[in-house]
Amino acid sequence: MNASILIRGGHVIDPENGVDAARDILIEAGRIAAIEKPGQIPSERAAKTIDAKGFTVAPGLLDIHVHLREPGGEAQETIQTGCNAAAAGGFTSVWCMPNTTPTNDSPMVTRFMLDRAAEADVGVHVHPISAITKGLCGRDLVDFSAMIDAGAVGFTDDGRPVENANVMRTAMMHARDLGAVIFDHCEELSITGAGAMHEGPTSLRQGIPGIPRMSETLIVMRDGLLALETGCRFHVQHVSNRESVEAIRWLKSRGAPVTAEASPHHVLLTDQRVGEGDTHAKMKPPLCEEEDRLALIAAIEDGTIDCIATDHAPHTASAKAGLFTTAPFGIIGMESAFASLYTGFVAQGPWTLALLIEKMSAAPARVMTGAAGEGKGALGVGDAADFVIIETGIEWRFEERHLGSISRNCPWLGDAFSGRVAATFVGGRCIFRHTDTALTC
Ligand SMILES: [Zn+2]
Repeated sequence: MNASILIRGGHVIDPENGVDAARDILIEAGRIAAIEKPGQIPSERAAKTIDAKGFTVAPGLLDIHVHLREPGGEAQETIQTGCNAAAAGGFTSVWCMPNTTPTNDSPMVTRFMLDRAAEADVGVHVHPISAITKGLCGRDLVDFSAMIDAGAVGFTDDGRPVENANVMRTAMMHARDLGAVIFDHCEELSITGAGAMHEGPTSLRQGIPGIPRMSETLIVMRDGLLALETGCRFHVQHVSNRESVEAIRWLKSRGAPVTAEASPHHVLLTDQRVGEGDTHAKMKPPLCEEEDRLALIAAIEDGTIDCIATDHAPHTASAKAGLFTTAPFGIIGMESAFASLYTGFVAQGPWTLALLIEKMSAAPARVMTGAAGEGKGALGVGDAADFVIIETGIEWRFEERHLGSISRNCPWLGDAFSGRVAATFVGGRCIFRHTDTALTC
């Protein structure tokens, strides 16, 4: 399986190394051995050649926010099926959240997750992120050092905020001393209340309890100020509204060590999508208004928001079939992320393909420096041969058969997409390929 491979004739986009040109890539022992102008690497150097003419070759995509549900939520997803979903979406590394059952708040659970990922043998690299507090209860801190020793990378109570500001402040001091990142689900629960969607004209019209936008922004600001004070690296998860964007912009301008992500659904959809109580438009934070969506897009373009992450959150069909007010929050997103964003922002503009690739590979790798992001998101000589081959000129329909996930809670099922990841490689091994692609590998 470690035979040498020559990827010939492709257009390579590697934002980290400033490459956006035709290049041949030689892979040896699972790593990039050479990357040269077309025709300069003799084909005899490789045991196998893949003809990538007409395709784009890019670094493997990185998803720094996924819920793999195992242990405890195996009816929704397992680490194996989550890895299948990742591979199908072009993700070669994923960072999984700790809100499992039991919570990933002990070295035993972290090791279990890593063992299950190794057994799954899909090839996708799985990096567990530890809880900040025991049982996500917001009270007792986990043993930060022990979690890192077990293989956890960074800390979050995602799914919940850390309600008590002093607990968060103490957590930040611990994380800072260990050089770790705090990832934050920013939500002020006293403001969210029983809200099920964004509070605005649409929620009023629908008679659905709303979540005021300050629920997110207050905690972005609270924890951003704590990061500024403590010097702890602080990453804002799933930014959803324009006030939060402004808060992050201000924090960054003051030198706070803050980074941020946006999810495909928040940059592609608005609360209008809730329509007739469509539970596939129910997530936390909620879909907001068009002005918020435009603010997120501008923030991605100007770097206020560093990267894209899906918040892939599987739920069973029966759970999502309930009433809008009682259905769980969250949608799956790994399989559709690249194609939905390519369709929305690249196929007809305004983004270049290089920008989208950057936001899904090099940029999350930078956010994850010190959290297993090193050596990822780039295609330099010596880097692991984790890459994708992208098909840009294809129109296709996204259907259930394209899912690797057990769950089906995706708002884009049945939609027409332009462009896709045709094949995904980890360590030079093809771990996914669309059955109907013209690419042979
Ligand atoms: Zn969250």
